[in-house]
Amino acid sequence: METLGEFLVHAITLEDESAQRFDELADVMEVHHNTEVAGLFKRMAHYSRLHLEDIRKQAEGMTLPHISPWDLKWPNDEAPETVAHEEGHYLMTAYHALRAALRSERTGHAFYANVARETNDPEIRKLASEFAAEEGEHIALLEKWLLKYPPPREGWDDDLDPPAVVD
Ligand code: ZN
Repeated sequence: METLGEFLVHAITLEDESAQRFDELADVMEVHHNTEVAGLFKRMAHYSRLHLEDIRKQAEGMTLPHISPWDLKWPNDEAPETVAHEEGHYLMTAYHALRAALRSERTGHAFYANVARETNDPEIRKLASEFAAEEGEHIALLEKWLLKYPPPREGWDDDLDPPAVVD
């Protein structure tokens, strides 16, 4: 990360995509009538949006650079907190949804921690460390929830009555 603006653009993208991802996971859980986990994901989406607001405030009055999506510096060409789409299996259990959320929170944490470590700019380092700490709290929360939802039995994705595929 060369400039504060560049870092903020990445953080805004990350949190925005994270919020959308949690909304999607909440929808999947609602389809399963798991209102408890749906509620957790809505809360997580809310946290991401609060964070997004904070970051936007930080950026107030600054001219942020325009960075094309393909020029964003993610570790794996994808916003770190974004869950791969195939993970949104319609039979996904709470366990899978929590694992998927945890995986992406971990990559988000690693992204911020890495920026904090690599940058020479003290302001970027300070913010990136704060953001990494925040992701650390999300990770701890998801880990706590996973204790409540153990892995499902083998064959969780065998559907005896599969939905008609309309393509
Ligand atoms: Zn997070």
